Amino acid sequence: MPKKKPYTFFWCRDCDQDFAVSTERKRIYCPLCGEHFYVEKVKDVWMERPFNYKRPWTPEEDEIVIVGRKQGYSYQEISDSLLARTPQSVRRRLQELKKKEVMA
Ligand SMILES: [Zn+2]
Repeated sequence: MPKKKPYTFFWCRDCDQDFAVSTERKRIYCPLCGEHFYVEKVKDVWMERPFNYKRPWTPEEDEIVIVGRKQGYSYQEISDSLLARTPQSVRRRLQELKKKEVMA
């Protein structure tokens, strides 16, 4: 079984994009704009392999987001119950789901 390694989750305010990096790095640059000024730490996570910040949402994750929102949880609280999802990505996912009228 692969060993889990620590990664730190960051979010670029400018690009509204979240991403994770190995915590050994000192200065963190956004993968989209290449800047570090707008990058904020979100949380530490443990993962078996490097994080793919554009990985698709699973039906299980969608379920947690939809049910959590219906029960009145904040994006922060919902992201806390998902591995490696930020409040920003939860918000974006909900907007996508609304467009598809899954929420209706
Ligand atoms: Zn950026």
